[in-house]
Amino acid sequence: MVKITSFATRDVRFPTSLDKTGSDAMNAAGDYSSAYCIIYTDTHHTGHGMTFTIGRGNEIVCAAISLLTPLVVGKDLDDLTADWGKTWRYLVSDSQLRWIGPEKGVIHLALGAVVNALWDLWAKTLGKPVWRIVAEMSPEEFVRCVDFRYITDAITPEEALALLKEIEGGKQQRIVEAEASKAVPAYTTSAGWLGYSEDKLKRLLKESVEQGYRHFKLKVGGNLEDDKTRLRIAREAIGYDQGNILMVDANQIWSVPEAITWMQELAQFKPWFIEEPTSPDDILGHAAIKKALENTPYGTVGVATGEMCQNRVVFKQLLQAGALTVLQADACRVGGVNEVLAILLLARKFGVPIVPHSGGVGLPEYTQHLSTIDYVVVSGKKSVLEYVDHLHEHFVHPSSVKDGYYVTPMEPGYSVEMKAESMDAFAFPGKKGKSWWQTEEARSIIDGPRVIQTST
Ligand SMILES: [Mg+2]
Repeated sequence: MVKITSFATRDVRFPTSLDKTGSDAMNAAGDYSSAYCIIYTDTHHTGHGMTFTIGRGNEIVCAAISLLTPLVVGKDLDDLTADWGKTWRYLVSDSQLRWIGPEKGVIHLALGAVVNALWDLWAKTLGKPVWRIVAEMSPEEFVRCVDFRYITDAITPEEALALLKEIEGGKQQRIVEAEASKAVPAYTTSAGWLGYSEDKLKRLLKESVEQGYRHFKLKVGGNLEDDKTRLRIAREAIGYDQGNILMVDANQIWSVPEAITWMQELAQFKPWFIEEPTSPDDILGHAAIKKALENTPYGTVGVATGEMCQNRVVFKQLLQAGALTVLQADACRVGGVNEVLAILLLARKFGVPIVPHSGGVGLPEYTQHLSTIDYVVVSGKKSVLEYVDHLHEHFVHPSSVKDGYYVTPMEPGYSVEMKAESMDAFAFPGKKGKSWWQTEEARSIIDGPRVIQTST
């Protein structure tokens, strides 16, 4: 028996805005941050979960975590995990907190941290990585992890069960592949941030090709002529006919007609998809963009979104509207592992590959589990997964890539346990003499002008 006794939240921010890591058309100067949740028990086990933000407002998510976590304090872990779907429903059903969602926004970001901390705790008590727990579930147990409310018009529990059973035959073989770190091919965005110079872009792309990467993503949407220059440089580095795949990401900068005309101009560089062309809430807008880019003179440009899609309902509608070429669920923007499992089932039903959003601190640590689960249990098909090579040194068990594949995590847990010294060193506002945020250097961010993004 493991009883949950208390919890803590931590506001941890890394000053990535100093060197423009993570910069794109909409997010010019982000400080990669974690709204962090630690669950303590009456044993030596602790559960670690976090939600990714890019700086200001991280304290609001921490406050929301502090409002949600008391719902599990005093509970036995076995009771919470015995019927996970029911537990998840319980966690979204505090009627007063529900008013500030429901199941979206800050309260849902916080839910992601709490639910993921529970999975981390559960996995540690079982001595297994999260992906393996799910891989070892029967289809019935998997389906019981999901709250099907609001999605049964697209997929019922019975259909989900049938889909999982359909590919169960090859599961053992896929587990063997996962154990050999051949389940999740990686791609990189590390070269493509908008704030990087042309020389830096060239150098990083060349390095990525040498490291064995085959998929490359560049940020676009700042300035059309600059985009053309950068995509030309990228294609010079990766070629058109060497099996290398280019992707572009606009981070919601355009209206629907702008997205269409801009991408018609960039179609000559043959990107596989445009990511986040417009508002993440605009389901029919994404469908219109996808339709318009199906027959450019240079072929089809697909549409991808998901990192700011707030829940399984929006994903359901995107799929129903035929708006997606690729689905990019985020590990903590939706309500943790359980809601991601629902979204994986939806994607499988509609035959759309998943490429979970991983561009943020801690996200690759999470998504390596989710992509492994998708391959081994849900779709049976290999997809690709973004790997951003920043800030991994702060994690106890950092994710890594070898020979173009994610190295499958084998340590017990959900891999986002951050080193205690890193949490102290980057605590916000932090303690004098301990936190970077109390140093002179930090004044340039704290007192500096806010970057307000108004142009397209
Ligand atoms: Mg993106």
